[in-house]
Amino acid sequence: MPAPAADLSGKTACVTGGGRGLGRAIALALAGAGADLALIGRSAEPLAETARDCEALGVRARPAVCDVTVRPQVDALFAQIHKELGGPHILVNNAGTSRQSPILDFTDENWQATLDLNLSAVFYCCRAAGRYMVPAREGKVINIGSSAGSRGRPNQVAYAATKAGIMGFTKALAVEWAPHNIQVNCLAPGRFNTEMTRSRIEDEEANERFLRMTPMGRVPEIGEIGGLILFLAGPGSGFMTGQAVHLDGGSSAL
Ligand code: NDP
Repeated sequence: MPAPAADLSGKTACVTGGGRGLGRAIALALAGAGADLALIGRSAEPLAETARDCEALGVRARPAVCDVTVRPQVDALFAQIHKELGGPHILVNNAGTSRQSPILDFTDENWQATLDLNLSAVFYCCRAAGRYMVPAREGKVINIGSSAGSRGRPNQVAYAATKAGIMGFTKALAVEWAPHNIQVNCLAPGRFNTEMTRSRIEDEEANERFLRMTPMGRVPEIGEIGGLILFLAGPGSGFMTGQAVHLDGGSSAL
């Protein structure tokens, strides 16, 4: 394994949606750099498995079953993390949902569920973590956006609206918390192969079309999100806040 880009030992990182997909890769990268982990999600088993894999890297890792759209659960969870692991010093708002259909068929329920998870839960988690970060005068918040937040694609009105919203949320909070020495940035991935995107990647024609709009011409390995996470979570990004960084094989450069 290459040497970690940051030494995060002594830090506690919270990753929402940390059991699988990009959240799991993010958690493993942070654990590899020495951070203790709180892995947050609704399903116990994937959280427990990722916690075991993080602990195998020599850190403490706690599976934390919590629906981040339910505010009282979030408040109680962050109080418990603070008590048990300390911090939190790093918060990665990764849990997200991408519900797709033409707007004329898009249900109120899907609209609301997208807002609840992709935006309201980010607000709840930042506020709950901030209760500890602000007095400690230390914190790193990484909000996972999407290239869909800055470009139009069909069938994605709710997803695009929330991912664009995250970029605005990131800027506002970055400015508000800069005097408290807390950096808030947005990492906007292009398409990675996870449960969220698998059917689109397995559709050969759609995937080829997508790759034609990706200068790097490939779907990244899931671990390729780790380097940027470690930079944004570590001391190297101490003067960087309010930014949206695209990790998309160059598609946003077109
Ligand atoms: P997945 O669908 O693979 O995973 C989503 C994660 O969120 C799961 O761990 C899930 O766990 C968790 N989650 C869902 N609902 C809740 C909830 N109410 N409370 C707590 N946790 C919840 O998604 P990806 O890994 O693909 O995506 C992660 C993030 O990256 C998302 O924000 C997504 O929008 C963004 N992104 C992904 C891209 C990709 O190509 N994959 C591209 C651009 C952005 P559980 O169901 O157990 O709760």
